[in-house]
Amino acid sequence: MARVVVTGGAGFLGSHLCDRLLERGDEVVCIDNLVTGSIGNIEHHFGDDRFSFNRHDVSNHIWVPGEVDVVMHLASPASPVDFARIPIQILKVGGLGTHNALGLAKDNDARFFLASTSEVYGDPLVHPQPETYWGNVNPIGPRGVYDESKRFAEAMTMAYHRHHGVEVRVVRIFNTYGPRMRPEDGRVVSNFITQALQGLPITVYGDGSQSRSFCYVDDQIAGQLALLDGDHTGPINIGNDQEFTMLELAEVVIGVTNSSSEITFEPLPVDDPTRRKPDLTEATTKLSWKPTVDLRTGVTATAEHFAGVLGI
Ligand code: NAD
Ligand code: UDP
Repeated sequence: MARVVVTGGAGFLGSHLCDRLLERGDEVVCIDNLVTGSIGNIEHHFGDDRFSFNRHDVSNHIWVPGEVDVVMHLASPASPVDFARIPIQILKVGGLGTHNALGLAKDNDARFFLASTSEVYGDPLVHPQPETYWGNVNPIGPRGVYDESKRFAEAMTMAYHRHHGVEVRVVRIFNTYGPRMRPEDGRVVSNFITQALQGLPITVYGDGSQSRSFCYVDDQIAGQLALLDGDHTGPINIGNDQEFTMLELAEVVIGVTNSSSEITFEPLPVDDPTRRKPDLTEATTKLSWKPTVDLRTGVTATAEHFAGVLGI
């Protein structure tokens, strides 16, 4: 049993993490400013005295009364739509927020867990991407605010580890989807499913030949907990290595939802990565973890969630 601070705990991934931590007997202090999260993701824990919620922007000093065993830092908007909408907040939470969360861990002699991203590889020139790849990032493009803030966060985390002796874990998360994503999040799986359920055109950006490898949320959280509990600092890729083009994803979504939607093509965003797929060798050998949920199964569960949210 541990007392775990989860920044970004009211978000999509953070709220699933809070669920799993409470289920296994941990105490959870959730800190979130709700910029992209929601109370609806965590309100089922209100009344549980092992759960508390503090609405706070972690780019400002974080104060948590009492002992802390683990700090899991997930706070950060993650959708490319937000990179254009709130770029400075994203840079601040990746930089100042990570610094504050590391300070909290150091003061408490706590283990620190950083939610990093496959975006540190940018538009990768190596395929699939192993953790040893240094990436191909445009620092001054619209995605740079997110990519560079996460690269800075990794550098800051490793500096606290080497210089201050803080025990750290770094996960590089590859595209993850599932229930509790916001309908208006803007990422591809939530866009396609909400469009298909409403019979609206499915908006494929570019010619749809770009690829991603989609991980279901339950697999993602299991991988993160294996990393947290194990002996490896990382960074370690956690994701699913089944790769799909966006046109293939659109076909899966249309099939699962039995939708009459047609596909339309819209301009490809600037610096949109061409291909992305995790090399999972480290995760499977060091954490004995591997993803188990295939795309069709995960999309089916996610579509049920969105049908409920949209009242369809
Ligand atoms: P999300 O937007 O649902 O969750 C992020 C949460 O952080 C939200 O609840 C938001 O309100 C909160 N937050 C943002 N800035 C904050 C601040 N300054 N102070 C306090 N709270 C703040 O997104 P998500 O998909 O759940 O992502 C969670 C984490 O995982 C992020 O760090 C993201 O970069 C990382 N990640 C996610 C994916 C993915 O595919 N879902 C991929 C790579 C990395
Ligand atoms: N995409 C798309 N239609 C949409 C939203 C996204 O074709 O409505 C594409 C986007 O251009 C990218 C891929 O889907 O190539 C994944 O986008 P997402 O925003 O989910 O995450 P990314 O991996 O780019 O951060």
